[in-house]
Amino acid sequence: MILPGDEDSNRLPLDISALDTAALNIPPPATGHPTYLRHRQWMMQALAIAATAGKSGEVPVAAIVVGPDQQIVAAAANRKERDCDPTAHAEVLALRTAGRQLGNWHLNDCTLYVTLEPCMMCAGAIVQSRLGLLVYGADDPNAGAIRSVLNLPDSACSNHRLEVIGGILEAPCRNQLRQWFQQRRQAKAKDELRPD
Ligand SMILES: [Zn+2]
Repeated sequence: MILPGDEDSNRLPLDISALDTAALNIPPPATGHPTYLRHRQWMMQALAIAATAGKSGEVPVAAIVVGPDQQIVAAAANRKERDCDPTAHAEVLALRTAGRQLGNWHLNDCTLYVTLEPCMMCAGAIVQSRLGLLVYGADDPNAGAIRSVLNLPDSACSNHRLEVIGGILEAPCRNQLRQWFQQRRQAKAKDELRPD
């Protein structure tokens, strides 16, 4: 079994059945619509993967690529700190793994789930992959390149019209990031109070 903390987790499909979604405090669904429930289920898995990355000192963001038959193709969390790699965002890692798994970089038939609105680098990679559908959780008012700060997929430099659904499990996705940054600030403040 490959778990999110493992070194090779960004290169191999993940066994997501081992993830603990019960600890995420997810509110009950607002509607019983099957498509919504499916998006919600995958986003819950992404949140659980993001939580494990947060415990490893990474900003908790995770992405899952799902194929046309609802099979998991790739899953990854942010690994920027662990890999000392400025491009090791969850989306980029998941797209790379998906391309390798499918033997094809065209991901027209795939859906990418990600807990946070992609940045400009990831939005660029998503356009390059010709992704079928992007589903994300929380908007990123600071760096979101899907709609919050800029809309890269609809801009003149994009050659792919991307379908997007934003706001799936928006509050849990936003709270996870907020809590992580809050805890980090508290830990830092404690460290500063500690005598040398
Ligand atoms: Zn990114």
